Amino acid sequence: MTAKVIDGKAFAATVREKVAAHVTRLKEEHGITPGLAVVLVGEDPASQVYVRSKGKQTVEVGMESLEFKRDTDITEAELLALIDQLNDDPKVHGILVQLPLPAHLDSDLVINAIDPAKDVDGFHISNVGLLGTGQKSMVPCTPLGCLMMLRDHHGSLSGLNAVVVGRSNIVGKPMAQLLLGDSCTVTIAHSRTKDLPAVVRQADIVVAAVGRPEMVIGDWIKPGATVVDVGINRIEKPEGGTRLVGDADYASCAQVAGAITPVPGGVGPMTIACLLANTITACCRANNLPEPEGLTV
Ligand code: NDP
Repeated sequence: MTAKVIDGKAFAATVREKVAAHVTRLKEEHGITPGLAVVLVGEDPASQVYVRSKGKQTVEVGMESLEFKRDTDITEAELLALIDQLNDDPKVHGILVQLPLPAHLDSDLVINAIDPAKDVDGFHISNVGLLGTGQKSMVPCTPLGCLMMLRDHHGSLSGLNAVVVGRSNIVGKPMAQLLLGDSCTVTIAHSRTKDLPAVVRQADIVVAAVGRPEMVIGDWIKPGATVVDVGINRIEKPEGGTRLVGDADYASCAQVAGAITPVPGGVGPMTIACLLANTITACCRANNLPEPEGLTV
């Protein structure tokens, strides 16, 4: 079997189109321009690339992008004061603090200072609790993107066995909650899981979010299963230079799976698209307007 390739790049483009159409409607019918504030502390090169990309795509869909760059030596009090200011700013509908923060800043404290209604990353403890109890929340962008692609591919996910490999707060745990919300039977695997290959072989849906290049191999995959590869790992090429690979070994998994997301071009592009989707959702909720369909759970 050769797996169907789930094209996250194309899917992300359709999400951005929906967002852009809704932004136009908000501007024309209500005079509202959704605004996304991104806070970047320090000089981490990967974070700078992400923030630039987020800002560019925010503007492309017609929203206002506000960037707040601060030096590495900002104090926690100064950063919290900035978050307060953004919480109070009616032009700001979404706030994202780019992680990781420098070690002297308490990420949990900073994230939990964001108004939960503006927490477009879905990391605030209130949103985590709301998602866990099946209530309306802001949903973390990467797992939201994975869920959208899975729903699009499968239609109903009800009754499917899903194995999420990885239990981080930003990917694994919220992914498991979302799949449970769609009535999958969910297993969360991690570094202490016994006989991981046997666990993964039970899965109709495998979500690989481990941060280990090409760890999940085709021999672990049930024939016809769907593999969603969240991993982004840069590895050395034998001939020199580097390339991006996922947490699943694409070549061997694609021979057994029914469908698979590639790296690059799978989950990655969906993450920023879902950030934009969350911003419009937050903006509609703040203004008591109907939310666009299909852009959140
Ligand atoms: P974390 O490092 O926070 O979590 C990794 C998880 O994998 C942990 O729960 C860990 O288990 C588990 N794990 C590690 N080694 C093994 C192993 N040998 N067997 C089984 N489980 C293992 O990573 P993130 O969740 O933040 O990210 C996961 C991947 O997703 C990374 O490749 C990251 O780059 C990528 N990513 C991609 C995004 C995108 O936009 N596409 C966004 C965010 C992340 P334990 O808890 O026991 O240590």
